Amino acid sequence: MSDPHKILIIGGGAAGLELATTLGHALGKKGKAEITLLDATSTHIWKPLLHEVASGTLAEAEEVEYLAQAHRNHFRFRLGRMEGLNRAAKQVIVSPTLNDQGVELIPRRVLDYDTLVMSVGSVSNTFGIQGVDEHCMFIDTTTQAYRFQKQLVETYYIKSYAGENSLKDKPLSIVIVGAGATGVELSAELHEVTRLLASYGLEDSDKVKITIIEAATQLLPALPPRLSAATQQQLVKLDIQLKLGRRVTEVTATAVHTHDGEVFDADLKVWAAGIKAPEWMKNLDGLETNGINQLVVDQTLQTSDPDIFAIGDCAACAWQGHKGNVPPRAQAAHQQASTVAKTIINRLKKKPAVKFVYYDYGSLVSLGKHSTVGSLMGSLMGTVSVGGFIAYLVYLSLYKMHQVAIHGYFRTAMLSLSNLFRRSTHAKIKMH
Ligand SMILES: Cc1cc2nc3c(=O)[nH]c(=O)nc-3n(C[C@H](O)[C@H](O)[C@H](O)COP(=O)(O)OP(=O)(O)OC[C@H]3O[C@@H](n4cnc5c(N)ncnc54)[C@H](O)[C@@H]3O)c2cc1C
Repeated sequence: MSDPHKILIIGGGAAGLELATTLGHALGKKGKAEITLLDATSTHIWKPLLHEVASGTLAEAEEVEYLAQAHRNHFRFRLGRMEGLNRAAKQVIVSPTLNDQGVELIPRRVLDYDTLVMSVGSVSNTFGIQGVDEHCMFIDTTTQAYRFQKQLVETYYIKSYAGENSLKDKPLSIVIVGAGATGVELSAELHEVTRLLASYGLEDSDKVKITIIEAATQLLPALPPRLSAATQQQLVKLDIQLKLGRRVTEVTATAVHTHDGEVFDADLKVWAAGIKAPEWMKNLDGLETNGINQLVVDQTLQTSDPDIFAIGDCAACAWQGHKGNVPPRAQAAHQQASTVAKTIINRLKKKPAVKFVYYDYGSLVSLGKHSTVGSLMGSLMGTVSVGGFIAYLVYLSLYKMHQVAIHGYFRTAMLSLSNLFRRSTHAKIKMH
């Protein structure tokens, strides 16, 4: 009997984890294929929740252990970071796995595949601006989000100390560069955190200054001006300073400099200005990439090598009927995972690949619990703006769809219930 077909998925994020779970049930359970998921970390958090991790308002229960998920859903999980590819040998090269102290746990190794799916996501694009890498914090990974949260709380403690030479009277200044969804959502979440911390007796909320700097002249540049204007009004109400049309030229340990010569003092600096695929993907054994390192794919999400697919943020897929590519968003990752799952199931039956068609269901921006969620629904109805509670529910449903894809309906309902109870008994914000 021949070996089962080996499907290797690199990256268990919004796209990869849904794909591994679907294929586990469709193929792995019946022994029709061997599905392996490789991820650089041992747990998964849906990335749009990272601004809540960064602000300390997310319950830890939202993390998914890959090993347990794999066991329940008929695929294998391997911990490790991909660093290269050998297409001739059909092997992925995995870096040595180190522990927190830098001790090697697993040496460099290779994983074999018959079909490979790249879904490693994206990282922040710093555009080579001086000082950004050294002095800004990023919210691209769970580790970075936790690091930001720790630094935020530590800075609060320092600022609230009232002894000799204290910094108590100087406002705590947080500068966020980038007014896309990430920057806007983070600013609103941080605004809420300042209120909560003030109510716990730390720094007064009026001593915290949150500023967003953006090169474009409107917030949320990817959205229609009407929606961005509504969002702008909300942020102004929250007392968030907006500096639009300012291009950052340099970041230092204490400030952010813009092209017009302004200098913004900052205790905490967050970079959220655009994305790119990781640098190591630029030279992936001859696969075609674009200017931001994404793997170029056709309408079946196949790269120039028919045995290699790319989905999610690391893929450059032309958006049919629109200018440019499918945007790097959670709903695109979700839809691409479904399409590639169908194609791979077809492949094993020697049937043709399924063409990917992107449906944009709109963009939703959460402005914190007590504020309206501005939103836009681009669908069969055309484009309409919705706000308030309805928008909040639609925003929530995007995450619920992800949870249903990886846990099923029953577990998603149980998780939602337990989260509700947990929130009613625990502190609203993490302080450590
Ligand atoms: C703070 C924030 C808020 C956002 N809000 C929204 C929103 O409201 N709506 C929306 O639609 N989108 C939002 N996005 C974008 C959305 O999160 C992404 O488009 C989506 O997660 C992309 O899915 P993905 O599977 O391609 O990548 P990811 O979800 O990023 O997953 C990539 C996975 O690959 C793993 N990985 C990376 N490198 C390697 C390697 N070398 N080897 C092995 N594994 C690796 C990572 O550990 C990770 O698990 C937000 C993003 C951020 C950062």
